[in-house]
Amino acid sequence: MLRVTVWGENVHEQKHQVVRDHYPDGMHNCIADGLREDKGFEVRTATLQDDEHGLTEDVLEHTDVLTWWGHTAHAAVEDEIVDRVQARVLQGMGLIVLHSGHYSKIFRRLMGTTCSLTWREAGEKERLWVCNAGHPIAQGIDRYFEIENTEMYGEPFAVPAPDETVFVSWFEGGEVFRSGLCYRRSNGKIFYFRPGHETYPIYHHSTVKQVIKNAVKWVAPEGTRWIDSCPGIALEDAPESLESKGGSVH
Ligand code: ZN
Repeated sequence: MLRVTVWGENVHEQKHQVVRDHYPDGMHNCIADGLREDKGFEVRTATLQDDEHGLTEDVLEHTDVLTWWGHTAHAAVEDEIVDRVQARVLQGMGLIVLHSGHYSKIFRRLMGTTCSLTWREAGEKERLWVCNAGHPIAQGIDRYFEIENTEMYGEPFAVPAPDETVFVSWFEGGEVFRSGLCYRRSNGKIFYFRPGHETYPIYHHSTVKQVIKNAVKWVAPEGTRWIDSCPGIALEDAPESLESKGGSVH
């Protein structure tokens, strides 16, 4: 079983009726329910309002993949929790950053750039083109899929060049955007996925749900967890050819 923690800021749902209409139990519960369609996932949720934002050492220790949706309260996320999530990603925990999570502390920390972009809220159609049909995250998806009404995100998207680009979006207003990006940071895999503006029912969209399920499998940890340490290696463990040199090996 892959252990997935779905993190939600859970603020718009409390304040805006239109968001509550689409997501009566909160966006995080909708995303979690989509993932539960896959019986290979064990899914829990955590929110900003929980103690330690629901991301205690114990929760992260038992999380293989974390998904992140935030927008209006990025600054309210405690730096200590950001440090903790970053450390787990570097060890190998997968991270999926959704939509406005591009400006979250954790994504900007892991990218090392501003992660800024252009945007417009006009209910435009979005067409997401599959750039890499062989990629595991694109499996089961045709050449493209569409979201009828959404917020536009446009280039330039101030992120480092990704290792792989899985989707590029076209919008009715003419802009384009790299909307499905893969990264590795140390032992952890990261996928950024653009769809998800809170005033549209985007996490009910069957293909969006499929992409997030595929992404969970792709970012899931492989192999050994890397712990942050920098051990010295004893001379007797070094090749014999070094023995005559004496001193220590660093
Ligand atoms: Zn948005």
